[in-house]
Amino acid sequence: MKIKSIHAVNLDMPAISPLARPSEARYKTERRPSWLESGPVANPMTRYPRYASYRPSWTPTWDNFGCVIEAEDGTWGFAIAQHGKPVASIIDEYLGPRLIGEDCMAVEKIYDMAVRMCAPFGAAGIASYAVSAIDLAMWDLKGKLLDKPVYELLGGPARDELFCYSTGGDTDWYMELGFKATKLPCPFGPADGLDGLKKNVQFIADTRELVGDDVELMLDCWMAFDLEYAVRLAEALRPYNMKWMEECLRSEDIDSHAVLRERVPWQTLATGEHWYTTPPFQYAAAHHLVDILQPDINWVGGMTPIVKICAIAESAGISVIPHAGGNTAYGQHACYAMPAIPWAETFVASPPGVAPEDAAKLPGVSTPKDGRMKPSDAPGFGLEILESHLAPFAY
Ligand SMILES: [Mg+2]
Repeated sequence: MKIKSIHAVNLDMPAISPLARPSEARYKTERRPSWLESGPVANPMTRYPRYASYRPSWTPTWDNFGCVIEAEDGTWGFAIAQHGKPVASIIDEYLGPRLIGEDCMAVEKIYDMAVRMCAPFGAAGIASYAVSAIDLAMWDLKGKLLDKPVYELLGGPARDELFCYSTGGDTDWYMELGFKATKLPCPFGPADGLDGLKKNVQFIADTRELVGDDVELMLDCWMAFDLEYAVRLAEALRPYNMKWMEECLRSEDIDSHAVLRERVPWQTLATGEHWYTTPPFQYAAAHHLVDILQPDINWVGGMTPIVKICAIAESAGISVIPHAGGNTAYGQHACYAMPAIPWAETFVASPPGVAPEDAAKLPGVSTPKDGRMKPSDAPGFGLEILESHLAPFAY
């Protein structure tokens, strides 16, 4: 069976991003606004006052969209894609036309072709979002053609259910929901000086007191620090027994990752959501820069590189916990199938009082109950998206 078409589409449905708010009517039970709507989150731009106080004041606003790959018999695979027009152009005007006519089963070959075709302008960054969408739509198509869930095509399931940890700043609500591990967004960075450092420490101290010693606690630093600040904060937080510190440094600064590893040898480190393609993960694993690799399945290139990164990690004796792995059907299938992935991250954007199943998600995506869940066993990734939901991409 050959590929007949590959194209970008818009989705005629209300919530296609885990960050999107569903209709107000579904928020009748809201107790207070979500942590996302207030409070600082340290980030690479906090040194510039005009963008310091609120991360969405500068982050990209291109919409999410879809990628559809159709087989000769009319069966189609679907993937969510990010960063709107720039990524849709790469799919519609460059990669898509060059992959039509390839075999629908040949996911490895098509991923390899797509990455190599991006070499003239760089396969990392924006191009990697297009490769991810094509790869995930290919896996969805393959599952539908073979009438199997993707986790079975991958050799799974590897476990009975996923252990999910929450990410966000509404810790009291996550404890109520039954999560046994939770990750905090770090509010302050180097630009906030000693006062910010003290506030960070107090924030973690208060959270540790709230959750007790039987809940794992992690800190997400979202590329906000330099080396000196990361070391200083890690030392100050040592009494609070954090499971890991995440993404302290900007992803391109590989040397500093090596120095941070040397200077805080006792602290588990995690990173990788802003690394693209497999070589950065190979380097990090080979040099033990971190203990946990965190590729994002919608950013790194799709399911195919996630499988390769799992093999790299296992060979180096480290683990993979994909960024937002519990938030999408794609991540859920990877986490369910691969022995190298022990946990599934669940980013919680909905306000306290609004149950995860009422929050924004694509139909067919599972949500955790008591910190555990299983992905759909329907063919492909199990998303319940109809042809009537799809519209031509609006450039
Ligand atoms: Mg993160």
